Amino acid sequence: MSTLIKGGTIVTAGDICAADLRMDGEKIAEIGKDLPQKDGDAVIQAKGRYIFPGGVDVHTHFELPFMGTISADDFKTGSIAAICGGTTSFIDFCFQDKTKPLAEAVKAWHEKSKKAVADFGYHMGITDYTPAVAAEIPSIIKQGITSFKFFMAYKGVLQIDDGQIIGIMEIIGKHGGLAMVHAENGDMIDTLVKRFVAEGKQPPEYHWLSHPALAEEEAVHRIIELARFTDQPIYIVHLSSADGLEKVKEAMSRGYKVIAETCPQYLLLSSDLYYKPNFEGAKWVMSPPLRPADHLEKMWDGLSKGFIKTVATDHCSFNFKGQKEMGRESFAKIPNGIASVGDRFNLLYTYGVGKGRLSLTRFVDVVATAPAKLFGMYPQKGSIAVGADADLVIFDPEAGGEVSAKTHHHNCDYSAYEGMKLKGLPESVLLRGKFAVRDGKYVGEQGAGRFIARGPSGKMM
Ligand SMILES: [Zn+2]
Repeated sequence: MSTLIKGGTIVTAGDICAADLRMDGEKIAEIGKDLPQKDGDAVIQAKGRYIFPGGVDVHTHFELPFMGTISADDFKTGSIAAICGGTTSFIDFCFQDKTKPLAEAVKAWHEKSKKAVADFGYHMGITDYTPAVAAEIPSIIKQGITSFKFFMAYKGVLQIDDGQIIGIMEIIGKHGGLAMVHAENGDMIDTLVKRFVAEGKQPPEYHWLSHPALAEEEAVHRIIELARFTDQPIYIVHLSSADGLEKVKEAMSRGYKVIAETCPQYLLLSSDLYYKPNFEGAKWVMSPPLRPADHLEKMWDGLSKGFIKTVATDHCSFNFKGQKEMGRESFAKIPNGIASVGDRFNLLYTYGVGKGRLSLTRFVDVVATAPAKLFGMYPQKGSIAVGADADLVIFDPEAGGEVSAKTHHHNCDYSAYEGMKLKGLPESVLLRGKFAVRDGKYVGEQGAGRFIARGPSGKMM
């Protein structure tokens, strides 16, 4: 028995067309005008609805031990929030436990991810680069983990030096992997953090004041030069500032292989939020931090013009009570991160498409297709095509809503986007041909998510 979706408007990264779609089992079997209903076919009416490919969020941190606590969403709550918000696949960062083999981290992540209800892959997060780690990289790639992240920030914790970066980039590239980087100058940040702490400056706003845009600009510039030196592409995660974006634009205009990601928070929220009274500013403490409001339109412009290729979330949720509060005595102890995996798709639609900043096809590209292509999941994920996984969002462009901690599916006691209006919402979401969300209600199966062994990353260039 197959299922027929009738009367909708199918939107991909390249095309918009009114057509019917037939799913057979887990795959898309047929796309065409006025497809006939076969005996026993289930029919989903989609008149007035867009059919989008399921969203792909390539930057999440579920159940991550970080800054003396563990991020609040695990693979279950995080992936339920994702799928209710139109995201059917995600890539979580599998972090090496310093001094231990990468393989042990992969094993631990496979254990945690059993609860996932959306499909998922891992990026390997390298925290300690040694000859033993280098020797393990080919076997990690063979397991379908084809992207590796390292840090130019978090001095004394995660930061590695330029020599190590060169070594990592060369070995990753040699084996068909893609290097990803957190690009902020950790030494500049460390200097400012220590200075503010010594001066007794405690409130949350000192977080963003200790992470100036210059620290991002410098690191973006440096990593681009290291990418040239090693002749490898570089993927910059969560680009946050207009200053960093200028460096990316400059490099792209010269033909250098740089790929930038941003997140909804760097398009929609600004650093004024750090000054909310009663320690509330802690809710938005993340790295990189939010920037002043004049950066936002420049980031949208970079996204609409293709200088920024993907929008992910960097979802890393911490409750205000008991977790963010760990930093009441010092901004430097506030766990970094916000919940947003469930909000990305809808925020980008409302504030991107709805406000005329993104075309429908560009929207699909940045939330689904480009990330799937870059990270070796295309066309299985991120597309609507015969033979692709039937991961689909049946989207009602007229439905209205509002982001709120009262209604979100995140396991988090606040929303960074509280009160923001939404126009256009997923009505139903299918994961490999099965309803995960039906008429706005989560109906997914426990543990339905499947590990995606990915092909080579970084091939879109
Ligand atoms: Zn992150």
